[in-house]
This record gives sequence, C-alpha cells and structure tokens, in this order.
Amino acid sequence: MDKETLEALERSIKKWEAIVAGKGEDRGGENCALCELFAEYECVGCPVHTEIGETNCQGTPFHEWVNHHEERHPESFSEALKVECSECKELAQKELEFLKSLLPETQKIKKKEKKENEKGI
Ligand SMILES: [Zn+2]
Repeated sequence: MDKETLEALERSIKKWEAIVAGKGEDRGGENCALCELFAEYECVGCPVHTEIGETNCQGTPFHEWVNHHEERHPESFSEALKVECSECKELAQKELEFLKSLLPETQKIKKKEKKENEKGI
C-alpha cells in the first residue's frame, strides 16, 4: 500500500471513529478520503475494493449501516448519517473494525501497542 492510500485509509478510519463516538457524520463518498482518491477510477486501487472486489463498498458493513438508516430512521435519512440508536452504533463500529482490518500488518501492530500503552498494560 502506498503512502497516499495509507493516509486516506487512516483518515477514513478517523471519520468512523468520530461517527462511533457520536461526534461525526457520514456523507458517503462526500466525506470519504478513499473515495476522494479512487472514485474516479471506479474504486480500483482502493483497499476496500482490493479486499472485497466490488465497487461502491458493496458487500461491506457500510451498506448495512445505510440500509439500517433507511429502514429505521427514514425521518432523518438524508445525505448525512449519524448514530441515532444502539444498532447504528454497532453498525458504525463494524464498519470501523472492517476498515482497520485493511491496514497493513505493521500499522495494526503499532495501533495495538498504542492501545495497550494507553490502558497501561
Ligand atoms: Zn439506528
């Protein structure tokens, strides 16, 4: 993974961390660093596409998140999706974990160590 892609993935992870924390919102490709880089190439090169083999995040937890909003929160279903109930939070968390799983191994290890340091292990 090149540096630019890695940075975009990390920005995307930050976006979902903020959403899980109730401080951020999802505007789909409008506020996705990976889409900024890869949408014009029909997702080719995006780590999500590399992992799943589909375009537009098909087959990822992102679609469960969108479907859930459409079904359960139609009154606020708009361009910007936020956590509105405990299931939303779970689905956002799932998307976050999925994106984290795309990080190269070395990055994952660094993150894990950081987490353990914070916990004081
Ligand atoms: Zn919900």
